[in-house]
Amino acid sequence: MKIVLKNLTKVFPSRNKKSNDEVIAVNNFDFEIPDGKLIGLLGPSGCGKSTTLYMISGLQKPTGGQIFFGDDDVTQLSTEKRGIGLVFQNYALYPHMTVKQNILFPLQNLKGADKMPKEKMLEQAYHAAKLVQIEDLMERKPSELSGGQQQRVAIARALVKMPRVLLLDEPLSNLDARLRLQTREEIRRIQKETGITTVFVTHDQEEAMSISDMIVVMKLGVVQQIGEPQSVYDSPANLFVAKFLGTPPINVFEGEVKNETLYIGDEAVLSVPGVASQPVTVGIRPEGFQLDPMGPLKCRLSNVEVMGRDVSIVSKHENSLNPIIRSIINADHKVDIASEFVSYSLKPNKVFLFHKETEDRIFF
Ligand code: ATP
Repeated sequence: MKIVLKNLTKVFPSRNKKSNDEVIAVNNFDFEIPDGKLIGLLGPSGCGKSTTLYMISGLQKPTGGQIFFGDDDVTQLSTEKRGIGLVFQNYALYPHMTVKQNILFPLQNLKGADKMPKEKMLEQAYHAAKLVQIEDLMERKPSELSGGQQQRVAIARALVKMPRVLLLDEPLSNLDARLRLQTREEIRRIQKETGITTVFVTHDQEEAMSISDMIVVMKLGVVQQIGEPQSVYDSPANLFVAKFLGTPPINVFEGEVKNETLYIGDEAVLSVPGVASQPVTVGIRPEGFQLDPMGPLKCRLSNVEVMGRDVSIVSKHENSLNPIIRSIINADHKVDIASEFVSYSLKPNKVFLFHKETEDRIFF
């Protein structure tokens, strides 16, 4: 089921009539989510991800714009009639019910023509439980389950009605690091197996990048960029997106373009054909540095951290806008920790230029 968002907008009015502090939580969101894909809605706290998800679910009414599921305009439709499955951060299972009863609950509540015979309900409940691999836990109560198992029950409960659309709001936040990894792969597997169009909200860029077919990066209610995770990482539209994606984060410098050459401080570090002379903000991915004794970017060496296959070199430069520069270098290259300086040449496809005021990308 494809989902179309047309100029979707949500404004929360000011509480106080005298002050003008209304919040534009989502501003003119336009996007066609292709059928059967997993979309990661990503951004810092308060950027409007949850509000977008709640509008798709029908829990919140848009101030403007429309939502379509396939060709159906669902903008005014109630949550129950949209055919969605919802999973929240807190699993919200009924504690006095068994796993089976929790999963059956949405089916037992169906009314009118949607009502199902008991056998059919059980069949669907077991099918959903099997998808998330909890069919052996059906007689337990939620308190007898681990956090990861509880979240699986919540996902099974969302899947049991065979929804047209699955909506997940930070579903992994309450799990520990190992379980998060495992559960996010589970979600990906279930999504692929069922082919249900899924929207997944998270503030964790690594999580979104690892399982999404496409990511949407938001800031203050405004979509910054939409694309496949790798292409957004490789070609960020602006400084915000460049900074938001990637661990370790991108290194940011003050720079200047003169005669189609990029300078950081007095050093000519890269040829940037076609770029007009101007002051710029420079982003360099950690993997964009190459150890090179003759390299033009000379930094003061602080530390070398061993990471196994790679090493992370921590250094400083007076034009860096971050307190430290972090580069990732293959561990085969030896770095003398006693040296005062480390010199780099730069990989051009890992260096991005941004307009100093607008912070939009300047392509070269
Ligand atoms: P988080 O990751 O912290 O959940 P988010 O990206 O999901 O953040 P939203 O919850 O969508 O962000 O909130 C977007 C903006 O709308 C925020 O500035 C928030 O304070 C505001 N907001 C959300 N709900 C309401 C509400 N009911 N009334 C007024 N303002 C609201």
